[in-house]
Amino acid sequence: MAIRANIELDAGAKTFATGLLIELIAALRCMRPGDLMAVFGSDRAVGTELEAWCRFTRNSLVDATVEEGRHRWVIRCGEAPENADAGRPVGSRLWLYTNFDCNLCCDYCCVRSSPKASRRALGLERVRRIASEAAALGVGEIFVTGGEPFLLADIGDILRACAATASTTVLTNGMLFVGRRLETLRGLPRDRLTLQISLDSPTPERHDQHRGAGTWAKAWKGIERARAEGFRVRLAATVATEAEADEFSQFLDSRRIGEQDRVIRRIALRGFATKGIALARADLVPEITITADGVYWHPVGAEDADLLVTPEIFPLADAFAAARRAFEHEQAHAHRLATIFNCA
Ligand code: SF4
Repeated sequence: MAIRANIELDAGAKTFATGLLIELIAALRCMRPGDLMAVFGSDRAVGTELEAWCRFTRNSLVDATVEEGRHRWVIRCGEAPENADAGRPVGSRLWLYTNFDCNLCCDYCCVRSSPKASRRALGLERVRRIASEAAALGVGEIFVTGGEPFLLADIGDILRACAATASTTVLTNGMLFVGRRLETLRGLPRDRLTLQISLDSPTPERHDQHRGAGTWAKAWKGIERARAEGFRVRLAATVATEAEADEFSQFLDSRRIGEQDRVIRRIALRGFATKGIALARADLVPEITITADGVYWHPVGAEDADLLVTPEIFPLADAFAAARRAFEHEQAHAHRLATIFNCA
C-alpha cells in the first residue's frame, strides 16, 4: 500500500537541471516537520538526485515505488526524532523475530502480524545456533519478539537458549499467561529475562482502539501476573503524539515505574500503519534483526525489502559483518555529501 502524503508534486519529465529543485523548495515551504511529500516523475534518475538532495538538506527519502509506469518518491520533511540509540555499537543488541503470527491485529503493527499472518518460524535449532554464535560477537542483549512469541509451543526453550548467552527481553502483549502458557512462563529464568509488555495508554480507550476491545484489561492482568511470578516487567507504549507520550509518562510516574522499566516510542509508518513517523534506513542506527527470511537492519521494518541486509543468517559473523559494512557505507555516503556541499 502506498504511503499517503500531505502534498503531491507532479514533476512530469523535469529533473533537478530543468526546474524540479525550485518546485521542491516551494513545496517544502508549505510543509511542517514530519509531513510527507510525494513526488511523481517519469525520469528514474530523479530518484538518485532526490536521495542526494535529501541527505544534504536533512530531509529523508523514505519510499520509492513505481505506479503504472511512473516513479513515486516520498520525502519526509525534516530529520527523524533524535535517536537515543545512536551511540550503541552495531551488534551489541540482537533482535529475533520468532514467528510473525499473533493473537492480536493492531492497526499500526510494523510487521503486519495478526491471527491471519502465516507463521514464519525461526525455529528452536536456528535460535540455538544464533545464540551460540552470538556469544563470540559481542552481543550484550537479545530481544525476542513475535508477532506474539508465547503462541509458540517451544518458546520456553527458545528463551532459555537466549538467556544462556545474554541478558534477554521478550516482547509480548501479555494476554496469554493462562493454562499451559502460564506453566511455560513459570519455568523461565528470572535473573536474565525481562518481559516487555505492551500498554499504550493509562486507560483502556486508546489502547483498545488500536489493539481491540478488552485488550487493555487483559494486558494489565498479564502485567500483574508476570510481576507476581517474580519477573522484571518493562512497560512499552506505542503512541501517536508527544502529548500521548507525556500522558503515559505521568501515568508511569504515578505508579513509581522507573525509567529503566519503560519504553515509549512513536508509531512508525511501516506495516499496517497509515499514520506515523516515516523512517528510512539512513534515519536508523542498525540493530541487527533476524527473521526466518534473513537479516534486517532494524526491527521496525523486519519484513521490508529496503531494510534487508542479507537473506543468509549463517555464519552469524558474516551477517554481522554485512550489517557493519552497510552502516559504514551509509556513514561514508553522508560524509561524502557533506564534503561535496561544504559551502564555507
Ligand atoms: S503490535 Fe505486537 S501485539 Fe500487535 S499485532 Fe503486532 S506483534 Fe501482535
